[in-house]
Amino acid sequence: MEKAEKITILKDLIAIPTVNGQEEKIADYIQKLFTKYNISSEKVLFSENRANLVAEIGNGNGKVLGLSGHMDVVDPGNLEEWNYPPFDPTIEDDKLYGRGSTDMKSGLAAMVIAMIELIEEKSTLNGTLKLLASVGEEIGELGAEQLTKKGYIDNLDALIVGEPTNLALVYTHKGSIDYTITSHGKAAHSSMPELGINAINNMVVCINAINSKMTEISKLYSDPETGQVTHNITIINGGVQVNSIPDKTVIQGNIRTIPAYGNERVRKDIQTIVDQLNQQKNFKLKLTFDYDKLPVKSNKNSFLVQIIQKVHHEKYSEDLPLEGIAATTDVAEYIKADKPFDFIILGPGEGTLAHQFNEYVEIQNFLDVIDMYKKIAQEYLNS
Ligand SMILES: [Zn+2]
Repeated sequence: MEKAEKITILKDLIAIPTVNGQEEKIADYIQKLFTKYNISSEKVLFSENRANLVAEIGNGNGKVLGLSGHMDVVDPGNLEEWNYPPFDPTIEDDKLYGRGSTDMKSGLAAMVIAMIELIEEKSTLNGTLKLLASVGEEIGELGAEQLTKKGYIDNLDALIVGEPTNLALVYTHKGSIDYTITSHGKAAHSSMPELGINAINNMVVCINAINSKMTEISKLYSDPETGQVTHNITIINGGVQVNSIPDKTVIQGNIRTIPAYGNERVRKDIQTIVDQLNQQKNFKLKLTFDYDKLPVKSNKNSFLVQIIQKVHHEKYSEDLPLEGIAATTDVAEYIKADKPFDFIILGPGEGTLAHQFNEYVEIQNFLDVIDMYKKIAQEYLNS
């Protein structure tokens, strides 16, 4: 495929504004493109206007290597902050600007183009190269959850996730938990507080207990690649009038977990605090967990890693760094598949530009990663 066509495909994907939805338009675009090259694909409907796409190439005999990319992007935010319109991709100084350029339509486009070029070049693949394009990664890895439950992941031997890593091999990342706590009290006139129960005061006790427990954990446990458990209360609402004792307060918090101190332990810690406070007079706290993504860690000496290093060596005679990141990815859902598999996160663009204004990808980086994916697929499946 010509360079200009590759850039056009990436621009087309960015120009489809899939802000937390509308991914079916991307699925249709890729499906139509694949049809031109006789690559069959399957849309897996999620909800109205939302569909994942799964496609395979290869002879189906040997190993199965997955390529994972999400089709949604986050909101561009304040448009005044953008020097270039977020959904009208613009090239300047060999950089392509637009929402999703780095996170992660360049990774997705690179995977799609790599598959097309392998077909164009009639490359032998002794095995299966499988594209998994997902919906709703940014708001809960929804498509990845659906594809995993439906069994699309069960035959994988290895997976590459094309999130932006600036050419590092990311083999571990943190998990993420969101929770909500509601404190119920009793309203009263603020001149007679003894007749009421102050829901805010009770919540303050609860917040302090959780904060001190989480601080203790972050001092005791850390992971060499992903660091410490972090905890933040990010939303608080309570009270309706300044001279009334508040009868209700709600907080929401987010915890980033690590392999060394996983989700189950953190959930239990918070549940215990809430249960113990509820034993005290006048406390009525209700806890729910809204989001629960596991921390993940793959083998950093896996066959997949060896193959990627070999491919990289052929061009640059040095190893790619192996790293951990804090952000979660679709792999947090995919690892729930019946069969364990090796994975690596490796994609064009820089993670630090994700979700930022004036997000961009360097075009040469995008083109290099296409070649890299092709070589990795050939080496992995054929050796
Ligand atoms: Zn992403």
